[in-house]
Amino acid sequence: MAVITACVHRSVKTALLLLSVFLLSEALPASWLPGSYANTTSDALRFLSDYNSTAEEVFFKSVLAGWNYNTNLTDYNSKLQVGEPVWCSFIIPWVIVIHLKDLSEILANSRSYKKLLFAWEGWRNAAGVPLKQHYPRFVELSNKAARGDGFEDTGAYWRSWYETETFQEDLEKLYKTIEPLYLNLHAFVRRKLYNFYGPKYINLKGPIPAHLLGNMWAQSWSNIYNMMIPFPGKPFLDVTGEMVRQGYNATRMFHLAEEFFTSLGLKEMPSEFWEKSMLVKPADREVVCHASAWDFYNRKDFRIKQCTTVTMDDLFTVHHEMGHIQYFLQYKDQPVGYRSGANPGFHEAIGDVMSLSVSTPKHLHEINLLESVTSDVETDLNFLLKTALDKIAFLPFGYLVDLWRWGVFSGSTPPEKYNSAWWQLRFDSNKMELTFQERTEEHFDPGAKFHIPVILCYRYFISFILQFQLHEKLCEAANQSSPLHTCDIYRSTEAGAILKKVMEAGSSKPWPEVLQEAIGTREINATSLMKYFEPIIKWLEEQNVNETLGWPELSWVPPIPEGYPEDVLAEIKASARKWRFTNLEESYLIWKNSLLFIFFIIEENNNNPRFVFSSVAKLTQSHSSVDPSIPFALSSNYFMGFFINKIDSIKNKILDILPNMITWSSVSEAVLEESLKPDQCLDYLDTIELSELSKTFASSKTC
Ligand SMILES: [Zn+2]
Repeated sequence: MAVITACVHRSVKTALLLLSVFLLSEALPASWLPGSYANTTSDALRFLSDYNSTAEEVFFKSVLAGWNYNTNLTDYNSKLQVGEPVWCSFIIPWVIVIHLKDLSEILANSRSYKKLLFAWEGWRNAAGVPLKQHYPRFVELSNKAARGDGFEDTGAYWRSWYETETFQEDLEKLYKTIEPLYLNLHAFVRRKLYNFYGPKYINLKGPIPAHLLGNMWAQSWSNIYNMMIPFPGKPFLDVTGEMVRQGYNATRMFHLAEEFFTSLGLKEMPSEFWEKSMLVKPADREVVCHASAWDFYNRKDFRIKQCTTVTMDDLFTVHHEMGHIQYFLQYKDQPVGYRSGANPGFHEAIGDVMSLSVSTPKHLHEINLLESVTSDVETDLNFLLKTALDKIAFLPFGYLVDLWRWGVFSGSTPPEKYNSAWWQLRFDSNKMELTFQERTEEHFDPGAKFHIPVILCYRYFISFILQFQLHEKLCEAANQSSPLHTCDIYRSTEAGAILKKVMEAGSSKPWPEVLQEAIGTREINATSLMKYFEPIIKWLEEQNVNETLGWPELSWVPPIPEGYPEDVLAEIKASARKWRFTNLEESYLIWKNSLLFIFFIIEENNNNPRFVFSSVAKLTQSHSSVDPSIPFALSSNYFMGFFINKIDSIKNKILDILPNMITWSSVSEAVLEESLKPDQCLDYLDTIELSELSKTFASSKTC
């Protein structure tokens, strides 16, 4: 889940960049203009103080514009938020994000090999490919900015936030520590998938097809837990039903989370939080549902944006997001430049540390959501496998997202190798992972991951390791002697004091110092993580005695299923038709299915003017569309694409007829622009045959 601020606003120059954005649109207030400062200590201090107050105002405006857009997705709000054209091309996926939610549900719940493949490929082709042409230019500009600041490239700049000379080697070492656990989990999951999908699609010595793992990027496998349960006879802990029975709603979930923090002696949420946060999905507008926590930099406005539903998973997310807000609150009085995590991994780690305690049966029992605490070996193993499918399966992915970008920024991965380098990292026998059908340089699969187009650094690898390290120390402080995976730090002010120490420092000190002062070590290491998962590691090793660990048959590729994609397309058409004719409440799911395949719908309706005008009606909010299968949230970009294609095809037809008489490059832009502004309007339009058009065109040349 995202935290809005930490990676973006880290320095003075970011403030200047934002100032330049505002300059484009409006005159700067006098108080924002740079003052004059002498080369003295007192003036330097005065500059810092002036900078701090100006930066608070600038950041407030910037964050507010982002908030307004994310909680109300309109073109108008988008323009207010986005100041620079270069940025625009990378914001396009915001609209696609809405649809990703539906696609993600297919990836999570469908067990149809073909349908999963279709959704997996469709997303990559729709979201990744269009970004490919922009990415090299982005890399060029981004590197230019980083070099201007004295860094070798953008990757070096990002790594500098970790303030460790040996950062890359340290990451590799950390990964090596957890690799055996990952390989055992991988082999176990592969065997279970083999039992379900059979030898045609799963090779027990090969990589796993990536679309079968329950998540669009295969970064978490917990959605296929129900195919993996070690002891199906033992009930899996899920308090969703109990929450519903007790009448929980979003606000109550957030109050429950707040009580967890105050029980540790940490801060309450301020009144602005309760007044201004968006805790449920509004019914009247489109929003970005990706849960996120926001610091508005004025030291009192902190908000969460989450489309909360009453489920156990969302209860953990609520604690996680509130962890970010708690961090904001603890460092709010630091100068602006220090209001971020000690390093980029810290912010995510704090949120997750809370969830590690809250998800234990002991805690759920204490907050009256679980009648009794049953703890036996088998129930524990079920719980630990589910957690491993989330936290361990993620680690290779969390590692490679920035590894890929470092290569791209340094130039060791040139544009013609963008996609193969991405898959090489996912395949590489040392760096782990799986794949599926062949992908080519026509594709741009990294672009289909949110953090790549929106330029967010990927700090989760560090945070996933650090959170267990913090968890172990907090449990010690809370006098919990039980195994690490059963520890709950609820009501321990001693544990809270450690967290407070980490958070209130912000990024004002090098992170090893912050860590040293809080938990007595200067290093991030994976020992606590291995300790937490120890019982499941042992159990997996026993299950895998006859399995091949890893994927020696690396070049194996599963076959393309028969009837693919025709069968899936036929099913989509049928479901869309059914929805259109029934329009009933229970047809909602079918409607969602048709929504998933918007790209297909556009393609199918390329020659259907009714579709175009109907969609335009929806885009202009006139709501009088005649075709209900056109999703509301369709971006106008798709329709612009439609018109551009039409114009191109008309141009080509004219060129076919009159190849020697006209070349488009000979028509100057000024002439074209003039021709777009006719001073007379036609009263009506009539069709004209192509032959007649060419005749008219040819004869007009003789005048
Ligand atoms: Zn987060």
